[in-house]
Amino acid sequence: MTPNQRGSPIYSSCTKCKTLIPLGESRCTRHRPKRTHVLSSTQRGYDAEYLRNRATILEGSPLCVLCNRRIATTADHIIPLSRGGTNQIHNLRPACPRCNSGRGNRL
Ligand SMILES: [Zn+2]
Ligand SMILES: [Zn+2]
Repeated sequence: MTPNQRGSPIYSSCTKCKTLIPLGESRCTRHRPKRTHVLSSTQRGYDAEYLRNRATILEGSPLCVLCNRRIATTADHIIPLSRGGTNQIHNLRPACPRCNSGRGNRL
């Protein structure tokens, strides 16, 4: 094993088979314990309902309702989730990424 240019090792090695693995890990992929907890889309705020309704909305109304100029590729929450809004279709409207991200929590 050759020393790394910056002097500090960037790899660790598997405690089972000594395979090089990214620093911070303790086992290689083969010996790593199975992760039972996988971050679901719900925990990121985008659940299946949102994704489904977004697809429906973007199919029917391709133009952003906020600027009426750009193509909508995102579904904007009319009442933001942070204010108790839901992912139901009546709380979503087509928006372009620019309008959607620029609006924040303002109504
Ligand atoms: Zn291993
Ligand atoms: Zn827009």
